[in-house]
Amino acid sequence: MTRYIFITGGVVSSLGKGLASAALGALLQARGFSVRLRKLDPYLNVDPGTMSPIQHGEVFVTDDGAETDLDLGHYERFTGVPAARSDNITTGRIYQEIIARERRGDYLGGTVQVIPHVTDAIKEFVLSDAGGVDFVLCEIGGTVGDIEGLPFFEAIRQLGNELPRGQTCFIHLTLLPFIPSAGEMKTKPTQHSVKELRSIGIQPDILMCRADRAIPKDERRKIALFCNVRETGVIQALDVDTIYDVPHAYHLEGLDAEVLSVFGIEDSPEPRLAQWHNITSAIREPEGDVTIAIVGKYTGLKDAYKSLTEALVHGGIANRVRVNFEWLESEIFETGDTAYYLEEVNGILVPGGFGERGAHGKIAAANFARTRNVPYFGICFGMQMAVIEAARNMAGIENAGSTEFGPTDEPVVGLMTEWMKENELVQRKANGDLGGTMRLGAYDAALKAGSKVAEIYGSTAISERHRHRYEVNMGYREKLEAAGLLFSGTSPDGLLPEVVELPSHPWYIGVQYHPELKSKPFDPHPLFSSFIAAAVEQSRLV
Ligand code: GLN
Repeated sequence: MTRYIFITGGVVSSLGKGLASAALGALLQARGFSVRLRKLDPYLNVDPGTMSPIQHGEVFVTDDGAETDLDLGHYERFTGVPAARSDNITTGRIYQEIIARERRGDYLGGTVQVIPHVTDAIKEFVLSDAGGVDFVLCEIGGTVGDIEGLPFFEAIRQLGNELPRGQTCFIHLTLLPFIPSAGEMKTKPTQHSVKELRSIGIQPDILMCRADRAIPKDERRKIALFCNVRETGVIQALDVDTIYDVPHAYHLEGLDAEVLSVFGIEDSPEPRLAQWHNITSAIREPEGDVTIAIVGKYTGLKDAYKSLTEALVHGGIANRVRVNFEWLESEIFETGDTAYYLEEVNGILVPGGFGERGAHGKIAAANFARTRNVPYFGICFGMQMAVIEAARNMAGIENAGSTEFGPTDEPVVGLMTEWMKENELVQRKANGDLGGTMRLGAYDAALKAGSKVAEIYGSTAISERHRHRYEVNMGYREKLEAAGLLFSGTSPDGLLPEVVELPSHPWYIGVQYHPELKSKPFDPHPLFSSFIAAAVEQSRLV
């Protein structure tokens, strides 16, 4: 029997609903239950793939090639359960499907309406493809009271009645602000938020109250009374020093016990949290530290690189060092002195990116790393820029460029027009749709035996997630290899480059895929562990 937990938010956004859901998932797993986590996003984009990372944060790509909300990244990192296309839905996708059905004539004779058609489609999504797990956790994006969220709240309200009794639990996440001039923690915004929720027919079972200090007993009682929730259902959710302590912190507040009690499960053994204790102790008691420069274009919003920074933290856990981030807008290298900014760092990472703005700064950063023997990790766009740098300065192809920036005489990086996906040919045209048309999701790659990257993975066959439209042009392979840049990984048919490395350098690797998407705190990605190990080595030299 699958039980459903719905997580909504109120008062303000950015309270960490995604993390709270992920942590609860991890706690239920630690008690031996299987879980699946889902996100319902009320915005009108069909998926976040076409949104700027500055708008919406990182786009998280699943194995099955969906471009999804970054919360799915939290879910995977905390539970290890691979997210799928069926775990994230938006209003845009729901409407796209309904309108397609209407055009097909599926509703012939009927008026198509928000209730029941949109709400039915939402419910169908929530219930579909759950795979028989013990718990499905469903997070609703936005906050209660948002106009665009209404159909989602209505759909989960209906599910509360339609699913068998005792099979649903509603959790509402709110904020208790502390007003310094009054010296008091205020419960009113929480009361209003719950009132709003109850006015649309949802009575929360549990309130998770984010606060920057302990909630006094009286306030807890007051919240319980005014919000019609049991006192044990008012869970304080305080800030913690590392996100990986959240499962343990919520357990101490009784969250998992309260959730199980909502379902009438009273005999579950205590959760096994040893792996989380190991992770937090590695983070809190590091044996050293390294500084990594992240040279990107969306450095103003840290959420734009969420999986990346977490994967670097995981690399730190594997080496028991703290990883400090030096966020650098790549454009500064286009006018300033690269060395001035990069002299002190122990590693340089150029992450994924799109478009010409800032690209030349990334090429300059790759050049600095290569010529100064600083560990360099190029991911997707960061690999493409490293190859352009090598083409220009090692292979003497002066005008090397990418067709992503316009026509060029030397398209060292060019648009991919066809590739194989599971024995089928995929084709793209230069002027096609931009949404959902990149080379997306998990693809196998073959690594060259004896190469550095094969040694790091301990294997020559890997599968990694992709998200790109352009690709290093294999027509230049021979020239680049002659100049010293090794193509150490390709697609299994040998047609698409996947990894390049510089055998003459301590650690210089570019990958066309996004390894950060698969890294977990309890299973750090080998490339990130190895990159941080190289940074530790480098820190001993300076
Ligand atoms: N803009 C590049 C491409 O489409 C790189 C994409 C990325 O870094 N994810 O190929």
